[in-house]
Amino acid sequence: MDQAIQELLDKAQRLFGDIPRPEFFTHHTHCCECADHNDTLSAHTPQDIGLNELGNIAWDPICFATEEAFLYYFPALARLTLKGSGDSDYFDQLLSHVILDGARNRLGRVSVLSSEHMSPSCSNTCLRTGSRR
Ligand SMILES: [Zn+2]
Repeated sequence: MDQAIQELLDKAQRLFGDIPRPEFFTHHTHCCECADHNDTLSAHTPQDIGLNELGNIAWDPICFATEEAFLYYFPALARLTLKGSGDSDYFDQLLSHVILDGARNRLGRVSVLSSEHMSPSCSNTCLRTGSRR
């Protein structure tokens, strides 16, 4: 693996690796879809979740994840974005989760990232990922 990619993944782990594992990952009592996505996220960790679970843009559990679950899984989202699998990766989905609808981002995900998370070195993750496409 490219050393620069590993350094970015290490940085994501340092910044987000201490986020506590949530008890629930979605508003699991809301509907069957939220319950199903909660089950998927509950069955995995940031270390073992993959594109099999998250890679279908029409059935991405992260769309329903709470803020805490999003931050908890962020190292996995970075890994799937930077490493991907063959011709597939998570770049488009991660981008949509972070900037969805801009300032009116329905999940407020940009606002839950601290200034440290949004530092220039951290944002290089997105820039570098975009530049390799
Ligand atoms: Zn629901």
